[in-house]
Amino acid sequence: MIVILRPDATEANIQHIVERTAKLGLKANISRGVERTVIGFIGPEDALRAIPLEVFPGVDQVMQVLAPYRLVSREFKKENTIIKLPYNTTVGGTKIAVMAGPCSVESYEGMLSIAKKVKALGVNILRGGAFKPRTSPYDFQGMGEEGLKILQAVGKEVGICTISEVMDTRQVELLAKYVDILQIGARNMQNFSLLKEVGIIKKPVMLKRGMSGTIKEWLMSAEYLLANGNYDVMLCERGIRTFETATRNTLDINAVPVAKRLSHLPVVVDPSHGTGSWEYVAAGARAGIAAGCDALMIEVHENPEEAFSDGAQSLMPDKFQELMVSCKRVALAVDRDL
Ligand code: PEP
Ligand code: MN
Repeated sequence: MIVILRPDATEANIQHIVERTAKLGLKANISRGVERTVIGFIGPEDALRAIPLEVFPGVDQVMQVLAPYRLVSREFKKENTIIKLPYNTTVGGTKIAVMAGPCSVESYEGMLSIAKKVKALGVNILRGGAFKPRTSPYDFQGMGEEGLKILQAVGKEVGICTISEVMDTRQVELLAKYVDILQIGARNMQNFSLLKEVGIIKKPVMLKRGMSGTIKEWLMSAEYLLANGNYDVMLCERGIRTFETATRNTLDINAVPVAKRLSHLPVVVDPSHGTGSWEYVAAGARAGIAAGCDALMIEVHENPEEAFSDGAQSLMPDKFQELMVSCKRVALAVDRDL
């Protein structure tokens, strides 16, 4: 059971509900969003039937939600969530957004050059990691704050939104200062301290699915973000581990319609990490759109051989252009724009 409060509900109204339900043995979990406050309850929910919460001052709606991910679920919100970003960019509407750029920020010149090229091809969001989650401690770990400065400067110069990964609770404020969207990487999907910290800031976030995370676990992780007050969350399918070794990961196309049915949050597909090989990226992107995704994330690099990370799965600009052309046709076929 969750209680959605009216926008004009007062602190006293909230306290009254908290105290009255505490007497029934329930613990209230209050999430204060920008537009509304929602109270969820932990404990014997059946006890709530004893009191008519609907008529309590400040209450707008009382809802029975069966899914364990309450705020994330379609039961809680029927309409698709549309996330508004700078430069008239949206994620979750009819138009499919495209995020593209190198795996890592490598230099100002490189970032500027690729940003201009991808923007000209219709990309709305520039990607580039500054803090990189690498399997080996000896591999390039990212440029850190310097990389974020470059990403921000290039974003402003070109007029495009930016996204970069936050790996640690200590980096949340730093990322929020420099980028438009915070990315939580696959390896951190269940880093609950990080989810809580990113939940309390007012910046859109993209939550990648863990490589061994079930769809339910992914949605439960998203619930941490919403329960802490951040409703601007997108989910990103980026491939899971299976027995298959021909590709780096197995892009779980099923996850797209499943997540869209279970949740109102926008779904992003990342066929770069989902396949691990540039040759398969366009096929994965087209499949994602056909399956109903709201955005794509694609790694693009001008010289993949020299890329500091993920060169093998990075597309050269000409191949990326071909991807955009073929994806537009698929988008049209499923009544979407790109
Ligand atoms: C990335 O986007 O470069 C990245 C590290 O992604 P993931 O967390 O999906 O591996
Ligand atoms: Mn990468």
